[in-house]
Amino acid sequence: MADLMGNDLTRQSASTLADAISQGEVSAEEVTKAHLERIADVDPRVHAFLYVDSDDALAAARGVDAKRARGDQLGALAGVPLALKDVLTMKGVPTTCGSKILEGWRPPYDSHVVERLRANDIVILGKTNMDEFAMGSSTEHSAYGPTRNPWDLERIPGGSGGGSSAALAAFEAPLAIGTDTGGSIRQPAAVTGTVGVKPTYGGVSRYGLVALASSLDQAGPCARNVLDTALLHAAIAGHDPRDSTSINAAVPDVVGAALNGDVRGMRIGLVRELSGAGYQAGVELRFREAVELLEGLGAEVIEVSCPHFEYALGAYYLILPSEASSNLARFDGMRYGLRAGDDGSHSVEEVMAITREAGFGPEVKRRIMLGTYALSSGYYDAYYGQAQKVRTLITRDFDAAFAQVDVLISPTAPTTAFKIGEKVDDPIAMYLNDVATIPVNLAGNAAMSLPIGLAPEDGLPVGLQIIAPPMADDRLYRVGSAVESALVDTWGHLLIEEAPAL
Ligand code: GLN
Repeated sequence: MADLMGNDLTRQSASTLADAISQGEVSAEEVTKAHLERIADVDPRVHAFLYVDSDDALAAARGVDAKRARGDQLGALAGVPLALKDVLTMKGVPTTCGSKILEGWRPPYDSHVVERLRANDIVILGKTNMDEFAMGSSTEHSAYGPTRNPWDLERIPGGSGGGSSAALAAFEAPLAIGTDTGGSIRQPAAVTGTVGVKPTYGGVSRYGLVALASSLDQAGPCARNVLDTALLHAAIAGHDPRDSTSINAAVPDVVGAALNGDVRGMRIGLVRELSGAGYQAGVELRFREAVELLEGLGAEVIEVSCPHFEYALGAYYLILPSEASSNLARFDGMRYGLRAGDDGSHSVEEVMAITREAGFGPEVKRRIMLGTYALSSGYYDAYYGQAQKVRTLITRDFDAAFAQVDVLISPTAPTTAFKIGEKVDDPIAMYLNDVATIPVNLAGNAAMSLPIGLAPEDGLPVGLQIIAPPMADDRLYRVGSAVESALVDTWGHLLIEEAPAL
Protein backbone atom coordinates (compact mmCIF):
# COMPACT_ATOMS: atom_id res chain seq x y z
CA MET A 1 0.00 0.00 0.00
CA ALA A 2 1.43 3.32 -1.10
CA ASP A 3 1.79 5.89 1.63
CA LEU A 4 -0.56 8.67 0.65
CA MET A 5 0.52 11.14 3.29
CA GLY A 6 2.15 14.11 1.65
CA ASN A 7 0.74 13.17 -1.74
CA ASP A 8 -1.91 15.21 -3.47
CA LEU A 9 -5.08 13.29 -2.69
CA THR A 10 -6.84 14.69 -5.74
CA ARG A 11 -4.36 13.01 -8.13
CA GLN A 12 -5.08 9.50 -6.83
CA SER A 13 -7.29 6.88 -8.37
CA ALA A 14 -10.57 5.98 -6.70
CA SER A 15 -9.36 2.47 -5.87
CA THR A 16 -6.18 3.80 -4.23
CA LEU A 17 -8.21 6.24 -2.17
CA ALA A 18 -10.71 3.56 -1.16
CA ASP A 19 -7.92 1.24 -0.03
CA ALA A 20 -6.21 4.00 1.93
CA ILE A 21 -9.48 5.01 3.60
CA SER A 22 -10.41 1.45 4.51
CA GLN A 23 -6.96 0.90 6.02
CA GLY A 24 -7.15 4.11 8.02
CA GLU A 25 -4.21 5.66 6.22
CA VAL A 26 -6.25 8.71 5.41
CA SER A 27 -9.77 9.67 6.48
CA ALA A 28 -12.71 10.07 4.12
CA GLU A 29 -13.07 13.55 5.54
CA GLU A 30 -9.51 14.50 4.51
CA VAL A 31 -10.10 13.11 1.03
CA THR A 32 -13.36 15.03 0.65
CA LYS A 33 -11.79 18.23 1.98
CA ALA A 34 -8.95 17.97 -0.52
CA HIS A 35 -11.44 17.68 -3.39
CA LEU A 36 -13.60 20.53 -2.13
CA GLU A 37 -10.47 22.70 -1.97
CA ARG A 38 -9.55 21.69 -5.49
CA ILE A 39 -13.06 22.63 -6.67
CA ALA A 40 -12.82 26.01 -4.93
CA ASP A 41 -9.46 26.55 -6.62
CA VAL A 42 -10.15 25.50 -10.23
CA ASP A 43 -13.90 25.42 -10.78
CA PRO A 44 -14.28 29.18 -11.22
CA ARG A 45 -12.30 28.58 -14.45
CA VAL A 46 -13.64 25.14 -15.46
CA HIS A 47 -17.30 25.45 -14.38
CA ALA A 48 -17.85 21.71 -14.09
CA PHE A 49 -20.26 22.06 -11.16
CA LEU A 50 -23.65 23.71 -10.98
CA TYR A 51 -23.98 22.96 -7.28
CA VAL A 52 -21.54 21.88 -4.59
CA ASP A 53 -22.77 20.89 -1.17
CA SER A 54 -19.68 21.02 1.03
CA ASP A 55 -21.55 20.50 4.29
CA ASP A 56 -23.44 17.43 3.11
CA ALA A 57 -20.35 15.98 1.46
CA LEU A 58 -18.27 16.43 4.60
CA ALA A 59 -21.06 14.98 6.75
CA ALA A 60 -21.26 11.93 4.48
CA ALA A 61 -17.48 11.54 4.64
CA ARG A 62 -17.49 11.75 8.43
CA GLY A 63 -20.25 9.13 8.40
CA VAL A 64 -17.92 6.78 6.47
CA ASP A 65 -15.11 7.44 8.95
CA ALA A 66 -17.45 6.66 11.84
CA LYS A 67 -18.57 3.44 10.16
CA ARG A 68 -14.97 2.39 9.77
CA ALA A 69 -14.19 3.27 13.39
CA ARG A 70 -17.08 1.02 14.48
CA GLY A 71 -15.70 -1.81 12.36
CA ASP A 72 -18.75 -1.87 10.03
CA GLN A 73 -18.45 -3.36 6.56
CA LEU A 74 -17.56 -0.63 4.03
CA GLY A 75 -18.44 -0.49 0.32
CA ALA A 76 -15.70 -1.04 -2.29
CA LEU A 77 -15.46 2.72 -2.97
CA ALA A 78 -16.23 3.90 0.56
CA GLY A 79 -15.34 7.51 1.18
CA VAL A 80 -14.43 8.27 -2.44
CA PRO A 81 -15.84 11.57 -3.78
CA LEU A 82 -18.06 11.66 -6.86
CA ALA A 83 -19.52 14.26 -9.21
CA LEU A 84 -23.15 13.64 -10.20
CA LYS A 85 -24.66 14.80 -13.50
CA ASP A 86 -27.48 17.22 -12.79
CA VAL A 87 -30.06 15.04 -14.53
CA LEU A 88 -30.37 12.60 -11.62
CA THR A 89 -32.47 13.42 -8.61
CA MET A 90 -31.00 13.68 -5.15
CA LYS A 91 -33.43 14.40 -2.36
CA GLY A 92 -33.58 18.07 -1.39
CA VAL A 93 -30.74 19.06 -3.72
CA PRO A 94 -31.44 21.34 -6.71
CA THR A 95 -31.79 19.38 -9.96
CA THR A 96 -31.84 21.61 -13.02
CA CYS A 97 -30.95 19.40 -16.00
CA GLY A 98 -29.07 22.50 -17.18
CA SER A 99 -32.42 24.23 -17.76
CA LYS A 100 -34.02 27.40 -16.44
CA ILE A 101 -37.36 25.63 -16.42
CA LEU A 102 -36.32 23.55 -13.41
CA GLU A 103 -34.64 26.39 -11.54
CA GLY A 104 -35.42 26.13 -7.84
CA TRP A 105 -36.83 22.59 -8.00
CA ARG A 106 -35.65 20.36 -5.20
CA PRO A 107 -36.73 16.77 -5.82
CA PRO A 108 -38.43 14.99 -2.92
CA TYR A 109 -36.67 11.68 -3.60
CA ASP A 110 -33.35 10.04 -4.48
CA SER A 111 -32.81 8.46 -7.88
CA HIS A 112 -31.87 4.77 -7.91
CA VAL A 113 -28.30 5.72 -8.82
CA VAL A 114 -28.04 8.03 -5.81
CA GLU A 115 -29.47 5.34 -3.54
CA ARG A 116 -26.83 2.93 -4.81
CA LEU A 117 -24.05 5.49 -4.35
CA ARG A 118 -25.14 6.16 -0.78
CA ALA A 119 -25.46 2.43 -0.04
CA ASN A 120 -21.88 2.03 -1.26
CA ASP A 121 -20.63 4.86 1.00
CA ILE A 122 -19.58 7.00 -1.97
CA VAL A 123 -19.44 10.72 -1.14
CA ILE A 124 -21.44 12.91 -3.54
CA LEU A 125 -19.75 16.31 -3.92
CA GLY A 126 -22.39 18.00 -6.03
CA LYS A 127 -24.18 18.26 -9.36
CA THR A 128 -22.40 18.77 -12.67
CA ASN A 129 -23.18 20.95 -15.64
CA MET A 130 -24.75 19.57 -18.81
CA ASP A 131 -26.43 20.58 -22.03
CA GLU A 132 -30.05 21.45 -21.33
CA PHE A 133 -32.00 18.20 -20.82
CA ALA A 134 -28.92 16.35 -22.14
CA MET A 135 -29.37 17.67 -25.68
CA GLY A 136 -25.97 18.50 -27.07
CA SER A 137 -22.34 17.53 -27.47
CA SER A 138 -20.53 20.46 -25.87
CA THR A 139 -22.37 21.74 -22.71
CA GLU A 140 -22.79 25.01 -24.58
CA HIS A 141 -26.54 24.37 -24.47
CA SER A 142 -26.56 24.62 -20.66
CA ALA A 143 -28.68 27.54 -19.47
CA TYR A 144 -25.96 28.17 -16.88
CA GLY A 145 -23.03 28.76 -19.24
CA PRO A 146 -20.57 26.28 -20.76
CA THR A 147 -18.10 24.04 -18.99
CA ARG A 148 -14.52 24.33 -20.19
CA ASN A 149 -12.17 21.51 -21.13
CA PRO A 150 -9.31 21.28 -18.60
CA TRP A 151 -6.90 20.45 -21.46
CA ASP A 152 -7.61 23.83 -23.05
CA LEU A 153 -10.05 26.22 -21.42
CA GLU A 154 -11.06 27.63 -24.81
CA ARG A 155 -12.44 24.24 -25.85
CA ILE A 156 -15.53 22.20 -25.09
CA PRO A 157 -15.42 19.24 -22.64
CA GLY A 158 -17.94 17.29 -24.73
CA GLY A 159 -21.59 16.90 -24.00
CA SER A 160 -24.06 16.51 -22.76
CA GLY A 161 -22.12 15.31 -19.70
CA GLY A 162 -19.27 17.79 -20.05
CA GLY A 163 -19.45 18.79 -16.39
CA SER A 164 -18.79 15.23 -15.26
CA SER A 165 -15.92 14.64 -17.70
CA ALA A 166 -14.34 18.01 -16.90
CA ALA A 167 -14.58 17.35 -13.14
CA LEU A 168 -12.55 14.17 -13.66
CA ALA A 169 -10.01 15.75 -15.99
CA ALA A 170 -9.56 18.74 -13.65
CA PHE A 171 -8.97 16.38 -10.70
CA GLU A 172 -12.01 17.77 -8.92
CA ALA A 173 -13.38 14.25 -8.40
CA PRO A 174 -12.01 10.77 -9.15
CA LEU A 175 -15.48 9.40 -10.00
CA ALA A 176 -18.46 10.78 -11.87
CA ILE A 177 -21.85 9.70 -13.13
CA GLY A 178 -23.00 10.47 -16.63
CA THR A 179 -25.98 9.56 -18.78
CA ASP A 180 -25.81 8.45 -22.38
CA THR A 181 -28.71 8.70 -24.80
CA GLY A 182 -26.64 9.15 -27.95
CA GLY A 183 -23.08 9.45 -26.68
CA SER A 184 -23.18 11.81 -23.70
CA ILE A 185 -20.92 9.63 -21.55
CA ARG A 186 -18.54 8.47 -24.28
CA GLN A 187 -17.92 11.62 -26.32
CA PRO A 188 -17.11 13.74 -23.22
CA ALA A 189 -14.77 10.95 -22.05
CA ALA A 190 -13.06 10.92 -25.45
CA VAL A 191 -12.40 14.66 -25.60
CA THR A 192 -11.17 14.94 -21.99
CA GLY A 193 -8.87 11.90 -21.90
CA THR A 194 -11.06 10.06 -19.38
CA VAL A 195 -12.96 6.76 -19.34
CA GLY A 196 -16.73 6.44 -19.66
CA VAL A 197 -19.09 3.52 -20.05
CA LYS A 198 -22.64 3.34 -21.33
CA PRO A 199 -23.90 0.10 -19.79
CA THR A 200 -26.30 -2.21 -21.61
CA TYR A 201 -29.72 -0.56 -21.86
CA GLY A 202 -31.56 -1.61 -18.70
CA GLY A 203 -28.32 -2.31 -16.84
CA VAL A 204 -28.67 0.69 -14.53
CA SER A 205 -32.12 1.77 -13.38
CA ARG A 206 -33.57 4.97 -14.84
CA TYR A 207 -35.63 5.63 -11.71
CA GLY A 208 -35.02 9.30 -10.87
CA LEU A 209 -33.18 9.98 -14.13
CA VAL A 210 -35.04 12.87 -15.75
CA ALA A 211 -36.08 11.40 -19.08
CA LEU A 212 -34.77 12.68 -22.40
CA ALA A 213 -35.61 9.70 -24.67
CA SER A 214 -36.71 6.81 -22.50
CA SER A 215 -35.90 4.03 -24.96
CA LEU A 216 -32.31 5.28 -25.28
CA ASP A 217 -31.36 6.82 -21.89
CA GLN A 218 -28.82 5.03 -19.77
CA ALA A 219 -26.82 6.18 -16.74
CA GLY A 220 -23.27 4.99 -16.39
CA PRO A 221 -19.88 5.28 -14.68
CA CYS A 222 -17.06 7.70 -15.51
CA ALA A 223 -13.54 7.81 -14.05
CA ARG A 224 -9.90 8.35 -14.99
CA ASN A 225 -9.02 4.69 -15.40
CA VAL A 226 -10.70 1.43 -16.36
CA LEU A 227 -10.67 -0.26 -12.95
CA ASP A 228 -12.25 2.72 -11.18
CA THR A 229 -14.94 2.80 -13.88
CA ALA A 230 -15.64 -0.91 -13.30
CA LEU A 231 -15.89 -0.48 -9.53
CA LEU A 232 -18.40 2.32 -10.00
CA HIS A 233 -20.28 0.31 -12.62
CA ALA A 234 -20.65 -2.57 -10.17
CA ALA A 235 -21.86 -0.15 -7.48
CA ILE A 236 -24.73 1.30 -9.54
CA ALA A 237 -25.85 -1.61 -11.76
CA GLY A 238 -28.48 -4.21 -11.02
CA HIS A 239 -32.19 -4.81 -11.10
CA ASP A 240 -34.71 -2.23 -9.87
CA PRO A 241 -38.43 -3.02 -10.11
CA ARG A 242 -39.24 0.71 -10.31
CA ASP A 243 -37.86 0.85 -13.87
CA SER A 244 -39.84 -1.47 -16.15
CA THR A 245 -36.89 -1.76 -18.54
CA SER A 246 -34.41 -2.68 -15.79
CA ILE A 247 -32.82 -6.07 -16.55
CA ASN A 248 -33.52 -8.73 -13.97
CA ALA A 249 -30.31 -10.73 -14.30
CA ALA A 250 -26.90 -10.89 -12.68
CA VAL A 251 -24.63 -7.93 -13.49
CA PRO A 252 -21.70 -9.06 -15.67
CA ASP A 253 -18.44 -9.33 -13.69
CA VAL A 254 -17.04 -5.99 -14.79
CA VAL A 255 -14.52 -5.71 -11.95
CA GLY A 256 -13.12 -9.18 -12.59
CA ALA A 257 -12.79 -8.29 -16.27
CA ALA A 258 -11.02 -5.00 -15.48
CA LEU A 259 -8.53 -6.93 -13.36
CA ASN A 260 -7.95 -9.44 -16.16
CA GLY A 261 -7.13 -7.40 -19.24
CA ASP A 262 -6.27 -10.24 -21.55
CA VAL A 263 -7.37 -10.09 -25.17
CA ARG A 264 -5.48 -13.13 -26.46
CA GLY A 265 -7.74 -15.07 -28.79
CA MET A 266 -10.46 -12.44 -28.72
CA ARG A 267 -12.05 -11.53 -32.01
CA ILE A 268 -12.37 -7.79 -32.46
CA GLY A 269 -14.44 -6.30 -35.25
CA LEU A 270 -13.44 -3.12 -36.96
CA VAL A 271 -16.67 -1.57 -38.21
CA ARG A 272 -15.97 -0.52 -41.79
CA GLU A 273 -18.64 2.18 -41.69
CA LEU A 274 -17.08 3.72 -38.55
CA SER A 275 -13.46 2.96 -39.28
CA GLY A 276 -12.20 6.49 -39.05
CA ALA A 277 -12.22 7.43 -42.72
CA GLY A 278 -13.09 11.10 -42.95
CA TYR A 279 -12.27 11.69 -39.29
CA GLN A 280 -9.66 14.17 -38.10
CA ALA A 281 -6.20 12.90 -39.15
CA GLY A 282 -4.91 12.52 -35.59
CA VAL A 283 -8.03 10.59 -34.57
CA GLU A 284 -7.56 8.20 -37.46
CA LEU A 285 -3.84 7.83 -36.69
CA ARG A 286 -4.34 6.97 -33.01
CA PHE A 287 -7.16 4.60 -33.90
CA ARG A 288 -4.96 2.71 -36.39
CA GLU A 289 -2.27 2.45 -33.73
CA ALA A 290 -4.80 1.07 -31.24
CA VAL A 291 -5.80 -1.59 -33.79
CA GLU A 292 -2.14 -2.59 -34.16
CA LEU A 293 -1.75 -2.59 -30.40
CA LEU A 294 -4.67 -4.98 -30.00
CA GLU A 295 -3.23 -7.27 -32.66
CA GLY A 296 0.11 -7.14 -30.85
CA LEU A 297 -1.64 -8.19 -27.64
CA GLY A 298 -2.96 -11.31 -29.34
CA ALA A 299 -6.43 -10.27 -30.52
CA GLU A 300 -7.64 -11.14 -33.97
CA VAL A 301 -8.92 -8.02 -35.72
CA ILE A 302 -11.48 -8.62 -38.46
CA GLU A 303 -13.23 -6.02 -40.60
CA VAL A 304 -17.02 -6.24 -40.37
CA SER A 305 -19.70 -4.29 -42.17
CA CYS A 306 -22.78 -2.70 -40.61
CA PRO A 307 -24.42 -1.29 -43.74
CA HIS A 308 -27.37 0.42 -42.03
CA PHE A 309 -25.21 2.53 -39.71
CA GLU A 310 -25.27 5.28 -42.32
CA TYR A 311 -28.94 5.84 -41.44
CA ALA A 312 -28.40 5.80 -37.67
CA LEU A 313 -28.00 9.54 -37.18
CA GLY A 314 -31.13 10.26 -39.22
CA ALA A 315 -33.18 7.69 -37.32
CA TYR A 316 -31.89 8.94 -33.97
CA TYR A 317 -32.84 12.54 -34.76
CA LEU A 318 -36.41 11.40 -35.36
CA ILE A 319 -36.74 8.95 -32.45
CA LEU A 320 -35.02 11.16 -29.88
CA PRO A 321 -37.04 14.34 -30.57
CA SER A 322 -40.27 12.29 -30.70
CA GLU A 323 -39.67 10.80 -27.28
CA ALA A 324 -38.29 14.07 -25.91
CA SER A 325 -41.28 16.11 -27.08
CA SER A 326 -43.51 13.73 -25.16
CA ASN A 327 -41.29 13.50 -22.05
CA LEU A 328 -40.80 17.26 -21.82
CA ALA A 329 -44.54 17.96 -21.95
CA ARG A 330 -44.56 17.61 -18.16
CA PHE A 331 -42.60 20.85 -17.75
CA ASP A 332 -45.58 23.18 -17.93
CA GLY A 333 -45.04 25.44 -14.93
CA MET A 334 -47.64 23.60 -12.90
CA ARG A 335 -45.62 20.99 -11.06
CA TYR A 336 -41.92 21.77 -11.19
CA GLY A 337 -39.62 24.78 -11.01
CA LEU A 338 -40.31 27.88 -13.05
CA ARG A 339 -43.77 29.39 -13.57
CA ALA A 340 -43.99 32.53 -15.72
CA GLY A 341 -46.96 34.73 -16.61
CA ASP A 342 -48.97 33.75 -13.54
CA ASP A 343 -50.16 37.31 -12.81
CA GLY A 344 -53.90 36.69 -12.89
CA SER A 345 -54.32 38.01 -16.41
CA HIS A 346 -53.61 34.74 -18.22
CA SER A 347 -55.43 31.45 -18.60
CA VAL A 348 -53.82 28.21 -17.42
CA GLU A 349 -52.94 27.32 -21.01
CA GLU A 350 -51.34 30.73 -21.51
CA VAL A 351 -49.28 30.34 -18.33
CA MET A 352 -48.05 26.99 -19.62
CA ALA A 353 -47.10 28.51 -22.97
CA ILE A 354 -45.39 31.53 -21.41
CA THR A 355 -43.49 29.29 -18.98
CA ARG A 356 -42.28 26.99 -21.74
CA GLU A 357 -41.31 29.94 -23.93
CA ALA A 358 -39.31 31.48 -21.07
CA GLY A 359 -37.92 28.29 -19.57
CA PHE A 360 -36.61 26.27 -22.51
CA GLY A 361 -33.55 27.16 -24.55
CA PRO A 362 -33.33 27.10 -28.37
CA GLU A 363 -32.01 23.54 -28.78
CA VAL A 364 -34.77 22.10 -26.58
CA LYS A 365 -37.40 24.06 -28.50
CA ARG A 366 -35.94 22.86 -31.81
CA ARG A 367 -36.23 19.24 -30.74
CA ILE A 368 -39.71 19.59 -29.26
CA MET A 369 -40.88 21.04 -32.58
CA LEU A 370 -39.11 18.33 -34.58
CA GLY A 371 -40.57 15.60 -32.40
CA THR A 372 -44.08 16.99 -32.39
CA TYR A 373 -43.94 17.22 -36.18
CA ALA A 374 -42.56 13.68 -36.57
CA LEU A 375 -45.33 12.29 -34.39
CA SER A 376 -48.18 14.24 -35.93
CA SER A 377 -50.94 12.44 -37.74
CA GLY A 378 -50.20 12.00 -41.42
CA TYR A 379 -46.44 12.16 -40.81
CA TYR A 380 -46.07 9.53 -38.10
CA ASP A 381 -45.53 6.57 -40.45
CA ALA A 382 -43.21 8.45 -42.77
CA TYR A 383 -40.93 9.72 -39.98
CA TYR A 384 -41.25 7.98 -36.63
CA GLY A 385 -42.39 4.67 -38.15
CA GLN A 386 -39.57 4.63 -40.72
CA ALA A 387 -37.02 5.52 -38.04
CA GLN A 388 -38.16 2.57 -35.92
CA LYS A 389 -37.67 0.28 -38.89
CA VAL A 390 -34.14 1.60 -39.36
CA ARG A 391 -33.57 0.95 -35.68
CA THR A 392 -34.45 -2.71 -36.20
CA LEU A 393 -32.07 -2.93 -39.17
CA ILE A 394 -29.27 -1.45 -37.10
CA THR A 395 -29.90 -3.98 -34.32
CA ARG A 396 -29.71 -6.73 -36.93
CA ASP A 397 -26.40 -5.33 -38.22
CA PHE A 398 -25.05 -5.60 -34.68
CA ASP A 399 -26.41 -9.14 -34.29
CA ALA A 400 -24.71 -10.21 -37.53
CA ALA A 401 -21.45 -8.56 -36.47
CA PHE A 402 -21.51 -10.15 -33.02
CA ALA A 403 -22.00 -13.55 -34.62
CA GLN A 404 -18.47 -13.07 -35.97
CA VAL A 405 -16.67 -11.13 -33.23
CA ASP A 406 -16.63 -10.58 -29.45
CA VAL A 407 -16.48 -6.78 -29.50
CA LEU A 408 -16.50 -3.99 -32.07
CA ILE A 409 -14.21 -0.97 -32.10
CA SER A 410 -14.19 2.50 -33.64
CA PRO A 411 -12.98 5.97 -32.76
CA THR A 412 -15.42 7.44 -30.23
CA ALA A 413 -15.73 10.88 -31.83
CA PRO A 414 -14.70 12.15 -35.26
CA THR A 415 -12.62 15.03 -33.87
CA THR A 416 -10.83 16.10 -30.73
CA ALA A 417 -12.34 18.84 -28.54
CA PHE A 418 -13.42 21.74 -30.71
CA LYS A 419 -13.41 25.42 -29.74
CA ILE A 420 -16.23 26.90 -27.71
CA GLY A 421 -18.51 28.69 -30.18
CA GLU A 422 -17.27 26.75 -33.22
CA LYS A 423 -20.39 24.61 -33.79
CA VAL A 424 -23.00 26.10 -31.51
CA ASP A 425 -24.88 27.79 -34.35
CA ASP A 426 -24.74 24.78 -36.66
CA PRO A 427 -26.95 21.97 -35.32
CA ILE A 428 -25.97 19.50 -38.06
CA ALA A 429 -22.25 19.97 -37.35
CA MET A 430 -23.00 19.43 -33.65
CA TYR A 431 -25.10 16.31 -34.33
CA LEU A 432 -22.30 14.77 -36.44
CA ASN A 433 -20.20 14.37 -33.27
CA ASP A 434 -22.35 11.39 -32.38
CA VAL A 435 -22.09 9.48 -35.64
CA ALA A 436 -20.09 6.64 -34.04
CA THR A 437 -21.85 6.52 -30.67
CA ILE A 438 -25.53 6.66 -31.66
CA PRO A 439 -25.89 3.18 -33.24
CA VAL A 440 -25.07 1.71 -29.82
CA ASN A 441 -27.99 3.48 -28.12
CA LEU A 442 -30.41 2.53 -30.88
CA ALA A 443 -29.59 -1.16 -30.34
CA GLY A 444 -29.15 -1.06 -26.55
CA ASN A 445 -25.57 -2.36 -26.53
CA ALA A 446 -22.88 -1.58 -23.98
CA ALA A 447 -19.93 0.62 -24.95
CA MET A 448 -16.84 2.26 -23.48
CA SER A 449 -14.61 5.13 -24.47
CA LEU A 450 -11.04 5.19 -23.24
CA PRO A 451 -8.08 7.42 -24.05
CA ILE A 452 -5.57 6.15 -26.64
CA GLY A 453 -3.28 9.16 -27.06
CA LEU A 454 -3.10 12.75 -28.21
CA ALA A 455 -3.73 13.90 -31.76
CA PRO A 456 -0.36 15.21 -33.04
CA GLU A 457 -1.91 18.24 -34.77
CA ASP A 458 -3.49 19.75 -31.63
CA GLY A 459 -2.17 17.79 -28.64
CA LEU A 460 -5.69 16.85 -27.52
CA PRO A 461 -7.00 13.46 -26.35
CA VAL A 462 -8.45 10.82 -28.69
CA GLY A 463 -10.85 8.12 -27.52
CA LEU A 464 -11.29 4.50 -28.58
CA GLN A 465 -14.83 3.16 -28.54
CA ILE A 466 -15.34 -0.51 -27.65
CA ILE A 467 -18.82 -1.97 -28.19
CA ALA A 468 -20.16 -5.21 -26.68
CA PRO A 469 -23.46 -7.05 -27.11
CA PRO A 470 -26.19 -6.48 -24.52
CA MET A 471 -25.27 -7.93 -21.11
CA ALA A 472 -21.66 -8.51 -22.15
CA ASP A 473 -20.44 -5.31 -20.48
CA ASP A 474 -17.54 -7.27 -18.96
CA ARG A 475 -15.94 -7.56 -22.42
CA LEU A 476 -15.54 -3.77 -22.54
CA TYR A 477 -13.48 -3.88 -19.39
CA ARG A 478 -11.39 -6.82 -20.52
CA VAL A 479 -10.39 -5.05 -23.73
CA GLY A 480 -10.23 -1.60 -22.11
CA SER A 481 -7.94 -2.77 -19.38
CA ALA A 482 -5.63 -4.54 -21.86
CA VAL A 483 -5.33 -1.38 -23.96
CA GLU A 484 -4.89 0.85 -20.92
CA SER A 485 -2.14 -1.31 -19.35
CA ALA A 486 -0.22 -1.49 -22.62
CA LEU A 487 -0.42 2.28 -23.08
CA VAL A 488 0.51 3.01 -19.47
CA ASP A 489 3.55 0.72 -19.93
CA THR A 490 4.57 2.85 -22.90
CA TRP A 491 3.82 6.26 -21.42
CA GLY A 492 4.71 5.51 -17.81
CA HIS A 493 1.42 7.01 -16.63
CA LEU A 494 -2.22 7.55 -17.60
CA LEU A 495 -2.79 9.96 -20.48
CA ILE A 496 -4.62 12.37 -18.17
CA GLU A 497 -1.33 13.06 -16.37
CA GLU A 498 -0.28 14.96 -19.48
CA ALA A 499 -3.07 17.51 -19.14
CA PRO A 500 -1.58 20.96 -18.52
CA ALA A 501 -1.70 22.25 -14.94
CA LEU A 502 -4.69 24.45 -14.28
N1 GLN B 1 -25.25 14.65 -28.36
C1 GLN B 1 -26.40 13.80 -28.44
C2 GLN B 1 -27.65 14.60 -28.52
O1 GLN B 1 -27.52 15.78 -28.53
C3 GLN B 1 -26.37 12.87 -27.26
C4 GLN B 1 -27.19 13.26 -26.11
C5 GLN B 1 -27.09 12.33 -24.97
O2 GLN B 1 -26.48 11.27 -25.03
N2 GLN B 1 -27.73 12.73 -23.89
O3 GLN B 1 -28.72 14.09 -28.58
